[in-house]
Amino acid sequence: MKGELQIRGVTKSYGQVRAVLDVSLDVRPGEFVTLLGPSGCGKTTLLRLVAGFEQPDAGTITISGHDATGLPAHKRPVNTVFQQYALFPHRTVFGNVAFGLEIKKRDEHEIESRVASALELVQMKDLGGRSVHEISGGQKQRVALARALVLEPDVLLLDEPMAALDLKLRQQMQLELKNLQERLRITFVFVTHDQDEALVMSDRIVVMNAGRIEQVDGPEELYEKPRTRFAAEFLGVANLLQATVQGRQDGVVVLRTKGGLDLLARDDGGYRDGTAVWVGLRPEKISLVDREANAFKGIIDDEVFLGDWTDWRVRVGDEVLSVGEGNVLARGRRRGDAVQVSFSPDEVLRLDDTEARR
Ligand code: ATP
Repeated sequence: MKGELQIRGVTKSYGQVRAVLDVSLDVRPGEFVTLLGPSGCGKTTLLRLVAGFEQPDAGTITISGHDATGLPAHKRPVNTVFQQYALFPHRTVFGNVAFGLEIKKRDEHEIESRVASALELVQMKDLGGRSVHEISGGQKQRVALARALVLEPDVLLLDEPMAALDLKLRQQMQLELKNLQERLRITFVFVTHDQDEALVMSDRIVVMNAGRIEQVDGPEELYEKPRTRFAAEFLGVANLLQATVQGRQDGVVVLRTKGGLDLLARDDGGYRDGTAVWVGLRPEKISLVDREANAFKGIIDDEVFLGDWTDWRVRVGDEVLSVGEGNVLARGRRRGDAVQVSFSPDEVLRLDDTEARR
């Protein structure tokens, strides 16, 4: 089907470096999928493999129902927006957007009307006559987008297209891009190392680590339930604890952490008695008020002021937990204070240690 992308068992090495390792992924028509991960995890390589700038060592890539493996880039129904925009400096805004259609030898009328509507889409319709030196960074970004959209690709590939913009503009462009994609319903595959950007825009997020996929999920699901230690850490789960499964009772398991805490976690069927596990806890899910389950006495070791909230480093046994507290409540506490920390067994995330298995 048009706009569908199927990646099957794709591997790509550069000499000794295995950039992409046995990756399989299905993207639905009209979906906004983001490849998220740290520098060097293989996001760009995977995107370049889909674009046809690189060929895989193994595996297949099917675009819009046709096997594209081995096809050169210009024969694939995809376009790419690059981080540096790669605009032609000696052409006008209009000339930049028209370029691809000129190469395809479309007639003047068609070029005129398609470029005009592409520029309208990105809110640049009055700036077609400007030189690219006379427009701002955000506007260059829009021109690069229009230049790719004017060719009406089935799949649009975007490689960190906001990286050169400052934070405020980037946030505005994120919303614009998401709205545009929702209107056009073109399949977007977007690359970023910024988790917030991924959470704001994507229908689904593909977390990558060392050439492999760690987890594929919707933003909410990924945020609430990262499944691996790597994904949890990358998505800001500040408390990662190693523990051993002690036993179970009434729907909860008892875990003893390395630092000597006995805590209760919801028994999701994945814990095995006597085995070592990693668990995660978001700082904002721990509170400084008493509750029945998982209540521990601690001492404030350190504080990190973060504007709206404070990140208390609380020593509990031999563990130091990050505990987030809104600053309306946090006033009056200080280092050395004795506090009570507590959290629900539902907030303890069971994490797979994929890295240890490699
Ligand atoms: P970044 O966010 O820094 O762009 P990335 O996740 O996009 O990183 P890739 O650029 O795909 O990662 O790189 C994956 C691995 O492959 C890295 O170890 C990188 O050094 C290596 N690599 C990428 N391209 C080449 C190349 N042309 N030649 C040799 N090694 C390469």
